[in-house]
Amino acid sequence: MKVAVDLDGVLAESMLVWCDRANKEFGTHLKMEELDSWSSWKRFSISKDDFYRLLDQTWIDWEQIPPTEPGLADKVARIEKFGDIDIVTGRSKGTEAAAKSWVENQKVRYRHFVRVAGWRDKIHLNYDVYIDDAPDLMPLVSHNPTAWAILYDRPWNRDVPRMRKVLKAERWRQIPGLLKKIQEVRIQNDGSRKPDSYTRT
Ligand SMILES: [Mg+2]
Repeated sequence: MKVAVDLDGVLAESMLVWCDRANKEFGTHLKMEELDSWSSWKRFSISKDDFYRLLDQTWIDWEQIPPTEPGLADKVARIEKFGDIDIVTGRSKGTEAAAKSWVENQKVRYRHFVRVAGWRDKIHLNYDVYIDDAPDLMPLVSHNPTAWAILYDRPWNRDVPRMRKVLKAERWRQIPGLLKKIQEVRIQNDGSRKPDSYTRT
């Protein structure tokens, strides 16, 4: 299987550093756990432009960004047996080098580092599985005839409803088991033109 692993929010805890920067600049007291929707910044009167500018600045200081979980490289390595693992990110061009440095520094192994202009473009890359935290990507994956998603649990995606071919993972250690399930369903469906109605989350 071709597996697309997202960077921000799935490997890198960039929003933790983003919150620090936002609090310094705007005098807010934002905590990552309070970012309970995809566009939470609106509630704190932070514009979309400011949101992305701060996120880019966060990445310039990539050494400050922690991984989402301890032992991340080992956890990601456990999914290598399921296929080709690419890091697929909507990072800006200006932060691509920093993002790559971060990944190298974390010793996360991958095949290709793929940058897309926006998260919507990910679905056009025809990956079999998307491991991502973006709530809005999930309906696109669910409606795609072949793609699957593993939604990595974050404060901003807990309202995502159950959807066909979208499985939820609270932690990285659950991801190998979910990929195994996906692989099994895909093997069952192989040769069949009728998509499976597997909906378990
Ligand atoms: Mg993300």
